[in-house]
Amino acid sequence: MGELDGLAALVTGGSRGIGRAISLELAARGARVAVNYNQTPGGAEEVVKLITDAGGTAVAVAGDVSLSSDAANLVKQTVDQLGGLDILVNNAGITRDTLLMRMSEDDWDAVHNTNLRGTFLVTRAATRPMLRARGGRIINITSVVGVMGNAGQANYAAAKAGIIGFTRSVARELASRSITVNAVAPGFIDTDIITSMSAEQTELVKNQIPLGRLAQADEVAPLVAFLAGPGAGYITGQVIHVDGGMVMA
Ligand code: NDP
Repeated sequence: MGELDGLAALVTGGSRGIGRAISLELAARGARVAVNYNQTPGGAEEVVKLITDAGGTAVAVAGDVSLSSDAANLVKQTVDQLGGLDILVNNAGITRDTLLMRMSEDDWDAVHNTNLRGTFLVTRAATRPMLRARGGRIINITSVVGVMGNAGQANYAAAKAGIIGFTRSVARELASRSITVNAVAPGFIDTDIITSMSAEQTELVKNQIPLGRLAQADEVAPLVAFLAGPGAGYITGQVIHVDGGMVMA
């Protein structure tokens, strides 16, 4: 018996990286999982196959979180195919790194649309079934960069900081309905999003991490599963770091 038995989850951007690891972890603990993808259907199908081969339940759901109609449809697909929505993980995210002087409006908008607007749209859509069920767990993936800032990532840092303010506000709005809302702030995780970094940049980053190494995606997933589980019912409005000690507060 898993601690998430009987619960239905939606993971945005579940087709690769951290979202893939979160989908697998939630399923391993018994949740039925809707694995969202946007441009990588093969990745989502692979995650679904891994889960179903292990005896779990999962479906792949297509949608761009930055579009209102897609966000609503993601929630509808989850409820229709999995029978409800108890856990939402807003994980979908992109970067468009460049220095402020060179940052185009499109660089700014694209990063905000996926990271911040996407989190808003899917959360808003998910609130209805959670209110009906009189409970739910919402976990938003932010970043250390949203707390510390980072040269070359003004767009991304602003969007991730926005997710923190959003998390705390929605946590206050939904607390009386037994819906908790928390944010997880990863540090540097070895996924596609950072493979564009040069060896030199990676070395520079490692020097800022007390634990002295990047993390793997499956080192973030257990915290997300904990926040979705029975042990975390009294935790809301928090930002919890998985960053090798980069931020200590
Ligand atoms: P990846 O680039 O490995 O994966 C990104 C995921 O987001 C993919 O599954 C992708 O789906 C999905 N995605 C992107 N745009 C959209 C969209 N518009 N609608 C739906 N899905 C979308 O990134 P990571 O796994 O590294 O990052 C996951 C989250 O963690 C992000 O929010 C990121 O900001 C955050 N994070 C990552 C860190 C790191 O060091 N890696 C550090 C801190 C935070 P598809 O391929 O199907 O389009």
